Amino acid sequence: MGEFDLIRRYFQPLAEHKGSEAVVLGIGDDCAIQRIPADQDLVFSIDTMVEGIHFPKGYCPEYLGWRALAAAASDLAAMGADPVCFTLALTLPVADEQWLAGFAMGLSRASECFGLVLAGGDTTRGPLVVSLQVHGTIKRGEALSRSGARAGDLVFVSGTLGDAGAALDFLDEPEPSDDIAFVLGRYHHPSPRLDLGKSLVGFGSSCIDISDGLIADLGHILRASGVGATVDVTKLPLSPALCNVKGSEAARYGLSSGDDYELCVTVSPECWKVAPEQLKEQLTMIGTIEHDQGLRLLGSPHSVEGDALGFDHFGGVS
Ligand code: ADP
Ligand code: MG
Repeated sequence: MGEFDLIRRYFQPLAEHKGSEAVVLGIGDDCAIQRIPADQDLVFSIDTMVEGIHFPKGYCPEYLGWRALAAAASDLAAMGADPVCFTLALTLPVADEQWLAGFAMGLSRASECFGLVLAGGDTTRGPLVVSLQVHGTIKRGEALSRSGARAGDLVFVSGTLGDAGAALDFLDEPEPSDDIAFVLGRYHHPSPRLDLGKSLVGFGSSCIDISDGLIADLGHILRASGVGATVDVTKLPLSPALCNVKGSEAARYGLSSGDDYELCVTVSPECWKVAPEQLKEQLTMIGTIEHDQGLRLLGSPHSVEGDALGFDHFGGVS
């Protein structure tokens, strides 16, 4: 199968998903064209997944399609942006039709679910690598960022933390228990918090998505904002499944394992007071922003040593 047949068969259908009015020219020309309303900013981000690094060799292609777009869309959620479209740069060792059908299926489901239409891409031969650029829009000047946290703000996270990281120990489990199936689901099928991100606009002082682990990602907020924080580890939202499969280690997963794609957001006490119930219900307060730089953990046997936080591709310490 040639490159153009491959694109037509597997990827063109994703260009026809609804919600694409802003994409005035999609797949088939030298560039795609996205129309940006005059009162909006374009918010965009690219994410790459490399076989053997971001997903295991031989990983299910349908899960890969979903996860790759979920991870990219999660960055839009963190900024409070409205998803619009994405491009796909796909490098494949061979054009295996069964693999392509599975990958396109996972990607297509994610694309419909997140409201991101495929607007173009690039297809090349080489080791398996998936790069996705996502585009969103937001009212001019309103995007959430990492740099707005101020002393006195409260620190919140969405959902539960640590599940996806715990799943890594069970990827080859032949007959997973219900608890193991739950954490595996959190790894294979993450849900970027797009609606939550949008509803945080106007309330959050800073926001980030948790892709590398809470300590690492909250650390990015603290550095970008020039502040510190105390987090009460006993308040971390941990799923019953994580507690069952990891026992006394569960909090460590909640603090430092990645791939959950939940949001970490800071909110001033004044904004929190007037936040709608429906927003409050989705967040758990875990700590407070302080003038003193660094991250202090209450109620944890584990200490955060210096900057040894999260995953850094080119070293141990970021
Ligand atoms: P060019 O050589 O001008 O860069 P290509 O031949 O690479 O264009 O691609 C032709 C068209 O197919 C372009 O519109 C491009 O966006 C689209 N395309 C290529 N690969 C993919 C892909 N994996 N998914 C979606 N669209 C793709
Ligand atoms: Mg061209």
